[in-house]
Amino acid sequence: MARRTCPSCKQVVEEKLIKEGNVITKSCPNCGYTFISYEKGKGYLVYPKRS
Ligand SMILES: [Zn+2]
Repeated sequence: MARRTCPSCKQVVEEKLIKEGNVITKSCPNCGYTFISYEKGKGYLVYPKRS
């Protein structure tokens, strides 16, 4: 787990990990903002944006 500042609620929060099948989502436990989401084994981001 990692602590980070949420861009939505501006608080330092502990990332909440959600696993749905092969998709892992890290979100803010405070406001529900999605930091990152990726598919396990493929190594690319599916949310929020591509670089
Ligand atoms: Zn938040």
